Amino acid sequence: MTETKSMKEITQEAWNKRPLIISGPCSAETEEQVMETAVQLQRTGKVDVMRAGIWKPRTRPGSFEGIGTKGLPWLQKAKKLTGIPVAIEVATAKQVEDALHFEVDILWIGARTTVNPFSVQEVADALRGVDVPVLIKNPINPDLELWIGAVERVAKAGIRQIGLIHRGFSSYGNTEYRNAPMWHLAIEMKRRHPNMLFINDPSHICGRRDILLDVAQTAIDLDFDGLMIETHVDPDKAWSDAKQQITPEKLGELLNSIRWRKEDVASEEYHTALEKLRQQINQLDDELMQIIGERMKISEKIGKYKKENNITILQTNRWNAILERAFKKGDKLGLSKEFITKYFDAVHMESINHQNQIMNS
Ligand code: PEP
Ligand code: MN
Repeated sequence: MTETKSMKEITQEAWNKRPLIISGPCSAETEEQVMETAVQLQRTGKVDVMRAGIWKPRTRPGSFEGIGTKGLPWLQKAKKLTGIPVAIEVATAKQVEDALHFEVDILWIGARTTVNPFSVQEVADALRGVDVPVLIKNPINPDLELWIGAVERVAKAGIRQIGLIHRGFSSYGNTEYRNAPMWHLAIEMKRRHPNMLFINDPSHICGRRDILLDVAQTAIDLDFDGLMIETHVDPDKAWSDAKQQITPEKLGELLNSIRWRKEDVASEEYHTALEKLRQQINQLDDELMQIIGERMKISEKIGKYKKENNITILQTNRWNAILERAFKKGDKLGLSKEFITKYFDAVHMESINHQNQIMNS
């Protein structure tokens, strides 16, 4: 007789596997959809945990807010069929209770919950004395302290297995992504919790299909431990997040297209470490340029304003104030006065050029 593993053991193995792949629909919609997705995910042979939203915290009312407790037996059934552990989002004590009652294997706290310490505490209190792995998504707003606070609350409740999910941050005016990745924040979070499972969620960062691979690849290059990607048997007809979901088959293709990092062989250790750091530098440089580009756009707006009001471009007082401020800030960050001067001169010149074009157009 072959030995059969318990679901707890299978979940444990999944938790420790690298890369850890979590996939499934944004929302459980119908029993058929859940079962069919489960079968197709299993067929890819690449999915370690199946996700599904049961209660959906939507930003605006009126959109699908989740099937609720009635969907939990569907997940149980899917798990029985495929042997793949299941994960859902919980936001209240009652949801934790229901999830545990229906033997959900992994819970996660969503971005809209992580922002609220009251909610996180309620979930944490409901988890006291329970042995279940918990993933914590970054808060919607780019505030690392909130994310760290949520980890602390859950840890204090006695949860031993805590993982992090980076799903990007809401930022006004951002168009390329649904939620800006702000990789530097993820990198900083990882630096603070070096041994904690760290997953990337390209679906909620991208909000669309065409750049999923790009974001997933960046995450893998930055040494994330795995990915959570939304899949649906008929993505265009999904009841939530239709634009970003892909079929399980497409998920298989996407995972095949990723250049996975080589195992750290002893002789390669140095190069691997160097490569990782260089990736981080590239990422930060990209973000710096993005920010400087945005700064120039604002400066152009000011240029327009000055033109309409017939004011000169250069206003010495303002410039001195900017420099004084930068010296003070720079000093705290370990940046020399010499560097600050050179840097701001360059930015200032570029800014004047942009404004000049506006004034003389
Ligand atoms: C989700 O995973 O479907 C979800 C609601 O994600 P987030 O909390 O990241 O918005
Ligand atoms: Mn979703």
